[in-house]
Amino acid sequence: MERVYNFSAGPAVLPEEVLKECQEEMMNYGGTGMSVMEMSHRSKAFESIINTAEDDLRELMNIPDNYKVLFLQGGASLQFAMIPMNLMKNKVADYIITGQWAKKAFEEAKIYGDAVAVASSADETFSYIPDCSDLPIRDNADYVYICENNTIYGTKFKTLPNTKGKTLVADVSSCFLSEPVDVSKYGIIYGGVQKNIGPAGTVIVIIREDLITEDVLPGTPTMMKYKIHADNKSLYNTPPAYGIYVCGKVFKWLKAQGGLGVMKEKNEKKAGILYDFLDNSKLFKGTVRKKDRSLMNVPFVTGNEELDAKFIKEAQAVGFVNLKGHRSVGGMRASIYNAMPIEGVEKLVEFMKKFEAENL
Ligand code: PLP
Repeated sequence: MERVYNFSAGPAVLPEEVLKECQEEMMNYGGTGMSVMEMSHRSKAFESIINTAEDDLRELMNIPDNYKVLFLQGGASLQFAMIPMNLMKNKVADYIITGQWAKKAFEEAKIYGDAVAVASSADETFSYIPDCSDLPIRDNADYVYICENNTIYGTKFKTLPNTKGKTLVADVSSCFLSEPVDVSKYGIIYGGVQKNIGPAGTVIVIIREDLITEDVLPGTPTMMKYKIHADNKSLYNTPPAYGIYVCGKVFKWLKAQGGLGVMKEKNEKKAGILYDFLDNSKLFKGTVRKKDRSLMNVPFVTGNEELDAKFIKEAQAVGFVNLKGHRSVGGMRASIYNAMPIEGVEKLVEFMKKFEAENL
């Protein structure tokens, strides 16, 4: 069967080269006579897989030595609790609400302490990023929290908020490795890998060492302490081994592409093709303020729900799948992560032009 152009927001398209390698190694990884799925996480072979993955990620993101890289489970959503449990020394945290994922993290933090929303774009259905240059960050805030790329609404922080010296924590699930970042500006960068990096089930947490302490909220489960995972190099218990192996392959693929600077250029070019079309279309329209547009998730509408449904159906029939917008917002959304080839976007735009001509 032919592969489709998969515009899913996640789990999402992975590089074909990576999938092929996984297929080749499925039954016999590196002469071990077994699949990575069947392998002890304490084996030499797996030790090499996880160590190489970490080294490659460090190189790709230029991660400073005073940051730990943790490969964990529980998805991005478990971090919504793990962050306050580990970081809320004063039980005070300030959240910037730019969509549902930030809101969910905020609601979770409220269970553990005094979490306050210091900015929000809820007033305009999260179609923009609020001005974060002078927020009422509290003096005793343990951290300031953002969701850097808002998967559902298609917005992205182009400049980081002024946290007034407080630790910045960022959920980068849907923009992970899509462009270079200055890791030193964050206390924690984390994300589920199922959008830009690998299969669902693995979450990567990059955390500054001074934030990893025994001093966590009373009752914090062992598995939710950063320290236990950092001390055990992500092998405290059985890690999501196969997921880590695939992530490692994607890191190699990204390095072969030329690294994150090159990915940024490619992503700008890809997103540019779609946004340029939307800006000139008489039928389709982007839903996000131009300056805050995500390179990864591009929501758009026709303004007519029936026509939206027709478009999604016809697109699917010719191999452009998962273009339906999130159930909370409707319309369409094209997620164009690193592994979406430029031809996928070019062909989608061709199809949209044809649909426009037929339906205007
Ligand atoms: N954060 C963002 C930005 C997301 O897009 C998602 C999932 O789509 C999540 C968090 C939740 O991730 P998970 O399902 O891994 O818990």
